[in-house]
Amino acid sequence: MSAASAKILQEELEKKNVTLVAVSKTKPAQMIQELYDVGIKDFGENRPQEMAEKYELLAKDIKWHMIGNLQKNKVKYIAPFVHLIHSVTSAALLKTINKEAAKNERDIDVLIQIKIAEEDSKSGLDIEEAKELIKEINEGIYPHVNVRGYMGMATFTDDKDQVRSEFKELKSTGDTLAQLLGQNENYSDSDPVLSMGMSGDYKIAIEEGANMVRIGSLLFGSR
Ligand SMILES: *Cc1c(COP(=O)(O)O)cnc(C)c1O
Repeated sequence: MSAASAKILQEELEKKNVTLVAVSKTKPAQMIQELYDVGIKDFGENRPQEMAEKYELLAKDIKWHMIGNLQKNKVKYIAPFVHLIHSVTSAALLKTINKEAAKNERDIDVLIQIKIAEEDSKSGLDIEEAKELIKEINEGIYPHVNVRGYMGMATFTDDKDQVRSEFKELKSTGDTLAQLLGQNENYSDSDPVLSMGMSGDYKIAIEEGANMVRIGSLLFGSR
């Protein structure tokens, strides 16, 4: 897709209050620059070192989104500048993010990743595990982390009904969890982020309540 078409897509999404995260993993900085030049500022990466390298090369007002499985020992590469970590799947990871945020004298925004897909390869917490984590968060033991909402990935399938029902599940899980989190006044200052939908399923995701979509191959071509 050309940069001009990407801009049109972003504007269409904006009208629906949906944030476009352009997933630039494996793609060169030059391609990010082309989208940046038409006003796209949110980019998603799944490797900490790759994100850090691109951060160094590109404009400092880019909002970098960490979207992949994140190893604890790599949080340090992105902690100084990352805008939003979509992929919190354990208390141990949250603890590391909190520690690295403190070292950098900042707070880091995160999403809790919920498992909705059938595939074992897709990670995330189930609702009970997520409730446990939010209870801990509400106890105030991660003061440098702000939970902004929820992320999930649907099963990779042509079965649109299945994809839709998985997104519905994430939306209702997110609503339940948001209520729990909302009991903590530190976290109720904005609507929860619901990050769901990729190139192949973002339209369904938006119909089911996504307000952030993560689109890679549609924008940048296949990887
Ligand atoms: C790669 C990736 C995307 C983007 O996928 P496309 O199908 O290329 O749009 C979105 N979310 C996550 C978590 C990813 O790893």
